[in-house]
Amino acid sequence: MEEMRGAAMAHYVNMSNKKQQEVVKFFNSIDKNGDGDVSTEEFLDFIRKKGYNMELPQNVFKLLDENNDGTLNFEETVTFFYMITFKKFTFCKGCGIYLSGLHFVCVKCHKADKEKTYDLCSSCYRNKNHSHTHTKFLDNDALLRRKGIMGKTFNVAAKVLKVGATLHGLLF
Ligand code: CA
Repeated sequence: MEEMRGAAMAHYVNMSNKKQQEVVKFFNSIDKNGDGDVSTEEFLDFIRKKGYNMELPQNVFKLLDENNDGTLNFEETVTFFYMITFKKFTFCKGCGIYLSGLHFVCVKCHKADKEKTYDLCSSCYRNKNHSHTHTKFLDNDALLRRKGIMGKTFNVAAKVLKVGATLHGLLF
């Protein structure tokens, strides 16, 4: 979660004043009793109402609560804001840790729906700590690169065919 916190704060300080005010409004909308902290109840109430409970794992509050005081302060809520704004909902299906870097993705599920992937941390993938039925996994970076290479190959092939067709048209 460390990397995500850093990114969220970097994003926040570079926002316009108007956008920052929106984040403050977002914080206030979760902090129902206005005591300056988001309690577990306030948080759960918010994610239930917005439907995020379907996408977030049960331990998300604990992950966000950096100083471990049982509530979310403004900075910790900025991380949450960043997460839902950019749909950063990648958690390990085996142990539940947040996956910000290199991790394994089920190729079949990724092909079917890029939004609903089945992700595992390296440790859970290595120790088979999951009950997923598909067996082919690739790390997220390899998956992106492979897609890029295949896309390029396809474009080159399409160009060759086009040139071939033009030549065919000129010659015959
Ligand atoms: Ca509160």
